[in-house]
Amino acid sequence: MDAHAPLIDAHCRRIDYLRLSVTDRCDLRCTYCMPERMTFLPRKDLLDLDELHRLANGFIARGVRRIRLTGGEPLVRRDVLDLVRGLGRRLGDGLDELTLTTNGLQLATHADALAAAGVRRINVSLDTLDRETFARLARRDRLDDVLEGISAAQAAGIAIKINTVALRGINEHELPALIAWAHEQGHAITLIELMPLGDVEEDRFDRYLPLAQVRAALERRWQLTPSNHRTGGPARYFDSTETGGRIGFITPLSDNFCEGCNRLRVTATGQLYPCLGGAERVDLRAALRSDDPETALDTALDTAMRIKPARHAFAFDAPGATPAQPRHMSVTGG
Ligand code: SAM
Ligand code: SF4
Repeated sequence: MDAHAPLIDAHCRRIDYLRLSVTDRCDLRCTYCMPERMTFLPRKDLLDLDELHRLANGFIARGVRRIRLTGGEPLVRRDVLDLVRGLGRRLGDGLDELTLTTNGLQLATHADALAAAGVRRINVSLDTLDRETFARLARRDRLDDVLEGISAAQAAGIAIKINTVALRGINEHELPALIAWAHEQGHAITLIELMPLGDVEEDRFDRYLPLAQVRAALERRWQLTPSNHRTGGPARYFDSTETGGRIGFITPLSDNFCEGCNRLRVTATGQLYPCLGGAERVDLRAALRSDDPETALDTALDTAMRIKPARHAFAFDAPGATPAQPRHMSVTGG
C-alpha cells in the first residue's frame, strides 16, 4: 500500500474533496432538516481538535485538495476557529481551498477571523428573505442575524454563495426575488432539491420541488445561458443576462450527478460515509485511536474507495414513505 496514493474509487472517480462535519448541533431547527427535539450525538463521541487535524492531514496526504467544514452548524463548535487556523496553514501546502457551509448566525462574530485564516469563499444557507417565513421554517426568528453575518463576511472580503433549498409552497414563489437580491448584493446563488434524509415532523414529499420546474419558470422571466463554470461541487450553472449573476442548480433527485462525484463525507464522530444517500460506512475514529493510526487511516481510506457506490438511490416515491436514510443531513454534513 502506498501511503500517498491518490484516492480513486472502484468507479474510477478521483476523490479530492472532503466535507468534514465538526458538530451535528445547530442553533436553528429548519423543519426540512431536523425535528425540534433532535437527538444530538454525545459530545464525548466527537473527534477532538487533534483528531480532526490528524484526520484532515491524512486526507491531504492522499490527494484531497479542498476541505469544506460543515455540520450541523460548524460555527457553534467552540474550538472551530482553532481548526480553521490550523487547516489554513495547509493552504498552498497540499490544500487549495478551505471553506465552510454555515447558516450565517455566528458569521458577524467570526468573519474577520475566518478571512485571516485564509477562508476566501463560504456557502451561506438562506431559504427566504421573509422574516415570518424564516421564523416558521427555521423555527427561530433570526433572519436579521443571518443578513448581518452575510454583510460582515462580505466586508471581510469573503466571497459568498447563497444556498437555497427549493420548497414547494414555502419559498417557491419567492425564488426569483431571492435570486435577484443575491445578484444585486454580488453573491452567487445555488438552488438545491430537497432530499429524503432523516425523519422530520413533516412529510417532505409535499415540499419537494423538482428544479427543472423552477428553471422553466425562471426562463420565462430571464434569459439563462448554460455556463461552463465549475466549483468542484455537483452544481450546474447558468448565467442570467438580466440579473447579471450566476445561478447554480443541484439536482440529486431529478437529474442524478453521481457520475462526477469527487467527494467524501466524514461525520463529527469520524464516520466516513462515501455516499450521502448510502448506508456504507468506514469508522475513521477507530483508525485514529488505534495503535498505528497512520496505517489504519490509510487502510480505512482504501476501504472507502472500494465501497463507494456508483450512485445514490434516493427518490420521493410516495407520500409518507420512510426517508431513504435514517441519518439527517446535519449528521452526515451538508
Ligand atoms: N448548518 C449549516 C447550514 O445550514 O448551512 C450547515 C449544515 S446544513 C445540513 C447544509 C445544507 O444542507 C444547508 O444548505 C441545508 O439547507 C441543506 N439541507 C439540510 N437538510 C436537507 C435536506 N433534507 N435536503 C436538502 N438539503 C438539506
Ligand atoms: Fe441547522 Fe443547517 Fe439543518 Fe438548518 S439546515 S437545522 S441551519 S444544520
